[in-house]
Amino acid sequence: MKIGFVGLGNMGAPMALNLLKAGHDLTVFDLNAQAVRQTVDAGAKQADSPRAAASGAQVVITMLPAAAHVRGVLTASEGVLSGASPGTVIVDSSTIDPASVREFAALAQQQGCVLADAPVSGGTGGAAAGTLTFMVGGSEAVYTQVKPVLAAMGKNIVHCGDTGTGQVAKICNNLVLGITMAGVAESMALGEALGIDPKILSGILNTSTGRCWSSDTYNPFPGIVETAPASRDYTGGFGTDLMLKDLGLATEAAKSAKQPAFMGALAQQLYQAMSSRGDGKLDFSAVIRLYRQK
Ligand code: NAD
Repeated sequence: MKIGFVGLGNMGAPMALNLLKAGHDLTVFDLNAQAVRQTVDAGAKQADSPRAAASGAQVVITMLPAAAHVRGVLTASEGVLSGASPGTVIVDSSTIDPASVREFAALAQQQGCVLADAPVSGGTGGAAAGTLTFMVGGSEAVYTQVKPVLAAMGKNIVHCGDTGTGQVAKICNNLVLGITMAGVAESMALGEALGIDPKILSGILNTSTGRCWSSDTYNPFPGIVETAPASRDYTGGFGTDLMLKDLGLATEAAKSAKQPAFMGALAQQLYQAMSSRGDGKLDFSAVIRLYRQK
C-alpha cells in the first residue's frame, strides 16, 4: 500500500521501518534530516513536505510530539491536507487531547478525507519489535480499513469507539504509568537509602504485589533491567517532557469532566520539577533522580 509517514522520532522511525519490512511503499517526512536519511537508507522515499508525503498516499500516518505539531503538519500550506486526495485515511498516532483529534477529524472531512486517532503504547522497544498496542478511535469502517496497516507495527489493534476515544484510552493509561513510575522510583530509592541491595529489592517487588511494568520492564534504578533507559543514562525511551505533556492532558481532561485526579496532579509536579531543572529530554524514569541521595 502507498503510505505517507510524518514524524520519524524515537517511535516513528522504528514504526516506519516495520512498514517497510511489511512491503509497503513508504514516503516519509521529518524536520530532522538525519532521521529521514536513516529511513530512506532502509528503502523509504523522501518527501520535502508533509504535503508531498501525503500526495498519492492511501494512508498517511503522523507520529508527532504534541497537538500543535499535528495541527501544523495537517493544516499548513505545505501540509498533509493540502496534498491528500479525497478518500485518504489519516491516522494520527501521536498522543494528543481528544478535543483536538475531533477538530482535526472535522477539518479532514471538509477535504473528503477521514482522520482516525490511533495512539500507541509499548514504548520504543515495542515500536522496534512491532508489538505496539494501537488504541483506535473512529468508525468501524475506518478501523477495518486501517487495521492491516497497523498490524505491521503492532500486535494489539483495539477499536476503542468513536473519534477521540483512542486518546481517552491512551491518556488514562499514561496517567497510571506516570504515577507507577514515580511510585517505583520512590520505593527503590528508599530501599537504597535503607541499605538493601537494589537488585534484591526489585526481585522482591517483581514477585510481590508491587510488581508493575515500571518495576519489571522499565525499572528506574540503573543496572536492574539491562534494556531499560535507566541502564543507559536515561537516554532514548520516553522523554520526561512527553510524560509531562500526557499528565497535563489527563489532568485537563479530568478538569473538563469535573473528575478528581489527585495522584496525576502530584505526579505531574514531579515531572515538572525534572523538566524545570533541565532534565526534560531524559527518559521519564529519571524521576528517580529526585529521590536518590547521591
Ligand atoms: P520524538 O520527539 O522522539 O519524535 C518526534 C518527531 O517529530 C521528531 O523526529 C521531530 O523532528 C518530528 N517533528 C516535529 N515537528 C515536526 C514537523 N512540523 N514536521 C515534521 N516532523 C516533525 O517523539 P516520540 O518519542 O517519537 O513520540 C511521538 C509521539 O508518540 C508523542 O506524542 C508521544 O507522546 C507518543 N508516544 C511516545 C512513546 C515513547 O516511548 N517515546 C510511547 C508512546 C507514545
